[in-house]
Amino acid sequence: MPAIPRLVAFDLDDTLAPSKSPIEPRIGELLIALAERVEVAVISGGQIQQFRNQVVDRLPASDAVAHIHLLPTCGTQYFRHEGGDFTPVYARELTDDEKHRALAAVEEEARRLGYWESETWGPILEDRGSQITFSALGQAAPVDIKKAWDPTSEKKSALRDAVAARVPDLEVRSGGSTSVDITRKGIDKAYGMRQLSEETGIDLDDMLFYGDRLDADGNDYPVLAMGVSCVSVTGWEDTAAKLEELIPTLPARA
Ligand SMILES: [Mg+2]
Repeated sequence: MPAIPRLVAFDLDDTLAPSKSPIEPRIGELLIALAERVEVAVISGGQIQQFRNQVVDRLPASDAVAHIHLLPTCGTQYFRHEGGDFTPVYARELTDDEKHRALAAVEEEARRLGYWESETWGPILEDRGSQITFSALGQAAPVDIKKAWDPTSEKKSALRDAVAARVPDLEVRSGGSTSVDITRKGIDKAYGMRQLSEETGIDLDDMLFYGDRLDADGNDYPVLAMGVSCVSVTGWEDTAAKLEELIPTLPARA
């Protein structure tokens, strides 16, 4: 573990806040106190809007936000605070060719398998830039109807396999209850941490990462596996308690 980390990174859901929920004021204050001492990063598979709803909108006003780094969609996008708001430094989108092939494959296979629904709540296909998302009933479908669509995950698995065979150069994963996501291959939190190291010039050995899923099947595990010093937490309260111990050990920025 670095004696004094230069950067402290966090998973979002179940590390800084309950899943999809806003951070508590205590976490907001701790993130700012930390950012007054070292660089602070948040990395998650979610979109920037989720970072805004859960974290950005809840941070106490402070110049220290300039030291906060946001990496939505596992670091295929990178945001810094500039001119009063978090703005993108880069967004590594799928190429037009990748998008075109992914959209065609998922629609054709969904129709062939009989999963192309006529009654939906919003569009079935979404181009999220770095990700193509298939939502069988649309994003806005009621939760109980979504859950009833594929309770055994049989449909998602069949569609995932059929699409993966059509676009073997891309990653195809079944996501939420009705969704299949297509992204570049090899995008996980380790990818995001490498991007962060390149962008900040801070060595991975000088970083500390807090996550709730550092177990071998967890989505934070790639960060541990790449050799970054990690702190395992059981939820946001645990993170808060551990930060209350860490922060007084860090010298204030000159
Ligand atoms: Mg998590």
